Amino acid sequence: MPFVVRSACIVVAIVAGGVTCAPTVRGPLTPADYPRTRPELTNYRETSHYSDVRNFLDSLRKLGAPLAFGSIGKTSEGRDIPYVIASRPLVSTPSDARALGRPIVYVQGNIHAGEVEGKDALLALLRDLTLSSKLNALDSIVLIAVPIYNADGNERFAPQSVNRTEQNGPEMVGVRPNAQNLDLNRDYVKAEAPETRASLAMFNAWDPDVFVDLHTTDGSFHGYALTYSPSLSPAAVFGGVYARDSLLPVVRERMRTRDGFEIFDYGNFLSDDGGLTADTSVHEGWATYDSRPRFGTNYYGIRGRIGILSEAYSHDSLSKRIASTYAFVNEILSLVAEKGSAVRSLTARADSQPLAWGRSPDSLQIVAIRSEIAAPHSMGVIREDLEKTGDSSLTQPGVPRGERRTGKFRTIRMPVYDRFRSTLDRTAPAAYIVAPQDTAVVTLLRLHGIRVDRSDSAWTARGETFVIDSVITAQRAFQGHHEVRLKGRWERGMQTLPPKSFIVSTAQPRGALAVYLLEPESEDGFTTWNLLDGDIRKGGRYPVTRIFDLSRRGRAVNRRSSASEPQPEQN
Ligand SMILES: [Zn+2]
Repeated sequence: MPFVVRSACIVVAIVAGGVTCAPTVRGPLTPADYPRTRPELTNYRETSHYSDVRNFLDSLRKLGAPLAFGSIGKTSEGRDIPYVIASRPLVSTPSDARALGRPIVYVQGNIHAGEVEGKDALLALLRDLTLSSKLNALDSIVLIAVPIYNADGNERFAPQSVNRTEQNGPEMVGVRPNAQNLDLNRDYVKAEAPETRASLAMFNAWDPDVFVDLHTTDGSFHGYALTYSPSLSPAAVFGGVYARDSLLPVVRERMRTRDGFEIFDYGNFLSDDGGLTADTSVHEGWATYDSRPRFGTNYYGIRGRIGILSEAYSHDSLSKRIASTYAFVNEILSLVAEKGSAVRSLTARADSQPLAWGRSPDSLQIVAIRSEIAAPHSMGVIREDLEKTGDSSLTQPGVPRGERRTGKFRTIRMPVYDRFRSTLDRTAPAAYIVAPQDTAVVTLLRLHGIRVDRSDSAWTARGETFVIDSVITAQRAFQGHHEVRLKGRWERGMQTLPPKSFIVSTAQPRGALAVYLLEPESEDGFTTWNLLDGDIRKGGRYPVTRIFDLSRRGRAVNRRSSASEPQPEQN
């Protein structure tokens, strides 16, 4: 049990010839001794600044909370992005964490820095779990908390009416993008931001079983304190399905019965969004967002792990948003603690499946690389009625002028679109071959924790290349890119591979991710983000070749034994 330790200075002239300071222990720590977050200190009028987060963590350290502190890396403006490890017993390295044999849960706040409550809830939860003497989740899991991921965005404080127009306070909040104006929750494939690169390095080093990303909603007036989503990519066959069917329904029930919050699958009313897609006439229903891995929790599912998106309701007060986010994360931690062995075995299965691809040609080695929203099921969804005020007054921050909330909620039966289905599957080849000059591709693969080998000599192998029939480039720029889509066909035959070719075997734990990123027709792969633009033209061949077996491979030299080791670029 932590104790409050205060220094008392005593003159000990005879023994030491000077002044020394001895700690005096003032009995067990009580909640009155706990440090308080900035929202708690300001009656929820203000959110934490970067310095508040650092000071709060320091105050936990001074109280002797069992925490290990570090930085995942620096932002583009040079701020350290702090992380905290919490577990009992305390561990401070990935190998020590793995030795405990427990699930590792990585919780990230503040990726969109105007969406503030994840940061403040996570700080409060860290305090309450680590300073509590009672048995809790920290006795059965390892928690990695990254409370202020988009630290630069957090410090660009401006009025909520400017930075978060649909949010009920606080008055001053940060911005959505990082200091380079990149949306970090669209960056998980291309990894251009230093924050993304730092988080991928954390994923590779610690390999968390569960990743939770904390946000605030933007839109619809629904009746839920929080909405959530598992990984929506159909390629997330392990963590996505398990979170959707086994974890989140239990968390939802516990949030209702133990915490007093109604929660539901993330979505918006189609009537608010203008329809399901541009080319359908479906305008009634509740629909989730997107399945592509540019979004962190979707990405995490393709790594074979559990990703959970948390979206506190933007029209609730800050105090309620902090409370609901706190409860949601707390329930996830305790449920993962209870289901520790199931979560660990899911991780093991996800890692071993691609290894079987290499050994058994009959094993199911399909990866979904394109998707569409699946047929809905009918469910009751809670909606709040708004009413006109008759003038243009502002009734609550985040509510459109001239309208007010009524507090009248109705449960309406409607189609609920909460999952995606594959529209294009690809069989994993034994390996992809990347041309010797495409070192940027190799660097990014390694950043994603994918092992890449190199062949010393030229060799030939059975395989296929993709003939490009058309290159479709998006007219509009998005995150500084004109996204590319390829259409074409595969042609089989013996492939002659030049010396120094890079070899990406799919028989590795992140084999499915390698397939997703490298397939030319993937809806969110390296082609999408212009990494291969220099080698792509209509009528040409896609520069990454599929190889069916590696047995004829010449003297291929494995230059890298582990993806998590430092990997200087070779060329
Ligand atoms: Zn967000």
